Amino acid sequence: MYDFLIVGAGFAGSVLAERISSQLDKKVLIIDKRNHLGGNCYDYYNDIGILVHKYGPHYFRTNSKKVYNYLSKFTKWRPYEYKIRTYVNGELYPIPINRETLNKFFKINLKTEKQAKEFLKKKRIDIENPQNSEEEVISKVGWEIYKKFFKNYTIKQWGLNPKQLDPSVCGRIPIRINNDDRYFTDKIQAMPLNGYHELFQNLLNNSNIKIKLNTNYWKIKNKIKYKYLIYTGRIDEFFNYKYGKLPYRSLRFKHENYDKEYYQDWVQINYPNNYEFTRIIEIKHATGQKNSKTTIVKEFPCTNGKPFYPIPRNINYRLFEMYKKEADKIKNLIIVGRLAQYKYYNMDQVIEESLRVFENINY
Ligand SMILES: Cc1cc2nc3c(=O)[nH]c(=O)nc-3n(C[C@H](O)[C@H](O)[C@H](O)COP(=O)(O)OP(=O)(O)OC[C@H]3O[C@@H](n4cnc5c(N)ncnc54)[C@H](O)[C@@H]3O)c2cc1C
Repeated sequence: MYDFLIVGAGFAGSVLAERISSQLDKKVLIIDKRNHLGGNCYDYYNDIGILVHKYGPHYFRTNSKKVYNYLSKFTKWRPYEYKIRTYVNGELYPIPINRETLNKFFKINLKTEKQAKEFLKKKRIDIENPQNSEEEVISKVGWEIYKKFFKNYTIKQWGLNPKQLDPSVCGRIPIRINNDDRYFTDKIQAMPLNGYHELFQNLLNNSNIKIKLNTNYWKIKNKIKYKYLIYTGRIDEFFNYKYGKLPYRSLRFKHENYDKEYYQDWVQINYPNNYEFTRIIEIKHATGQKNSKTTIVKEFPCTNGKPFYPIPRNINYRLFEMYKKEADKIKNLIIVGRLAQYKYYNMDQVIEESLRVFENINY
């Protein structure tokens, strides 16, 4: 008999397992159908000894001291500010768009933020209330930048025209009038010093926690006794898809090894207009690993595959709400995480949410 059965050993499940076992002194069984801990954040050393991220690059960043202090109990850090480039017209440009991007692309020489602001004012299309991602971008930077930097990348990434997507999809990427070329501006940006897998092992290192990998909830649900269920898998699957499937975008990864120290100068290069893949990642830049060989990963977005990205559209949110209402009716069930809440959470956000959920557990 367990006090809690937790389905999923990603951040949502693992943080809750850690809190419940250490703070409430309760017995937890955490299961995952995969053969490893960490959910989508899992990393491992590949055949040539390079630490790689199995499910796409995971750049940790946060403005939350609470999240950072919490995680710091389970890992040391390697401070690292992520900087990436995008390949347009045969050249590499800073992305997010900044003043340097504007100068290089339009072959001009804007020297101040004021000049950049004035310039964009002339380029932008006047739309008061953008209704979709196309309108969102052209209302900030105009058509030229939209077409070369945003349109095709979004189509590749989501399989949808930006016109069909929420303004928030492209709106998440800032437009800068200074020369800051960091990918994110969060105050804290760092990689777990020895990787994510070690961090997860430390999180779950408590004698109150039992871990079972290669274990699918649907195969064991009637064999295990527990008081509370914390479920971090797909909410539509939990209800046997009774209202229909919640759509996701997935990725196929192609790993390539090279017998040289670095393949490219940046941790990530985006390819909006060329090739089938969207980006090439060389995670070694971020992990700081020293090795004479390297591994790169090309990402090919696709429809079928692991459910990576909830698709941000109102029609999908409405479907999610129908499942959520069902979940709320079940007394000993807690749903949390990217799949269970159908929400585009970053790592720090899912950790913050899991800590909040823990505070509200009335055991
Ligand atoms: C390609 C990609 C890149 C990302 N990059 C970043 C980044 O750079 N920075 C950042 O902050 N965030 C990033 N994220 C987001 C980050 O991965 C998530 O915020 C985080 O993994 C969410 O944790 P979770 O526990 O909710 O979900 P998950 O990590 O998906 O964990 C859920 C777990 O539940 C298990 N599970 C599901 N159903 C069952 C079942 N029936 N039985 C047993 N187990 C089950 C799954 O196997 C999985 O391991 C990225 C995500 C993706 C997909």
